[in-house]
Amino acid sequence: MKISSLAACILTVSSLALAAPVSAAQCLEVTLTGTQGGPPVFRGQAGSGTLVTYGTEENNCRDVLLQFDTGRGTTQRLSEVGVPAGRLTGVFFTHIHSDHSEGLPDLMQLRWHFNSEGPKVDMVCHEDAKARAGHTMSCEKFAEHIGDALIQSGEMAQRLAENPKRLPGGPKDLLNVTTFAASNTPQVVWEKGDVKVSAISSRHVAGHASYRVDTPAGSVVIGGDAGNDKPVPPRDTSTSTQVELLAQGADIIVHSAIHPVMGPDGTTGFPPPIYFRQSTATDLGGMADRAGAANLMLTHLIPPMGAPRQGPYPLPNGGLTEQDYTDAVRDGGFSGNVVVGTDLAKLRLVAE
Ligand SMILES: [Zn+2]
Repeated sequence: MKISSLAACILTVSSLALAAPVSAAQCLEVTLTGTQGGPPVFRGQAGSGTLVTYGTEENNCRDVLLQFDTGRGTTQRLSEVGVPAGRLTGVFFTHIHSDHSEGLPDLMQLRWHFNSEGPKVDMVCHEDAKARAGHTMSCEKFAEHIGDALIQSGEMAQRLAENPKRLPGGPKDLLNVTTFAASNTPQVVWEKGDVKVSAISSRHVAGHASYRVDTPAGSVVIGGDAGNDKPVPPRDTSTSTQVELLAQGADIIVHSAIHPVMGPDGTTGFPPPIYFRQSTATDLGGMADRAGAANLMLTHLIPPMGAPRQGPYPLPNGGLTEQDYTDAVRDGGFSGNVVVGTDLAKLRLVAE
């Protein structure tokens, strides 16, 4: 398969407008719908999420549209690439942390408002997972209560009164929830036509999972916030052994990244346990190299590029640049294509 960056896509589209009809070749497109790392806000960046679409170049790779995580602002970012709320085929969650999930109520309320007649959207996530501290992370409960605030406020009753064709239970009635118990070997959790999604267990919080999408046009791994099972050094790497297994031979790896400047050797004062539970940009470079991936897309950047601080923790020399992240990846030994994530950065793979 061949790869094209956004710039190359634009060139292709403009030259195609002059000449040949658009190709019927199969294609896979990966778009970062949000790149903010963690709960802070910075310069309007959307919360974590990745849109993976598959189809033919004729239909802009849009037969199957899969959204992985739905951070704050996902609906707006999708609107910028022409994907209405009603078009998504499936929504997958790496874990139930608000910076990865809080965009779903917004997305589903909008879908309920205008697309109550269906179809439902598949929601795929880890089954209820009990943490050592005693609490349970429940994707199913998140889905079940997705419309509660608006139901309790009376808004839903008012909107049903003006349009009784809407589903009486609110937006949860449009979710078709499937859960799985992730293990340390990949398992197929969702399939449609030529598109297969596999999941593997990975460490971050209880119920964290990482995904891989395989299509005839190529493959992409969505690591989420995965880190190594060993929570603190000494260890070989901060990256997940399971994600590395899942990523073998993948064309693209999309992964949350923390820059080594936030580590305990630096001066930021960032809490070491939070640093250690993420994968560093350097170690992701090493993992991408070992997995044989051609492309590494860093997302959920901690700190965001240009930010003088991550939450309350100041950077020693002001904001980091794209080059700072790329250098960190190269230090890990990766020589392939690096995309330091910004909202709506995209890569397209085309079957030969
Ligand atoms: Zn996160």
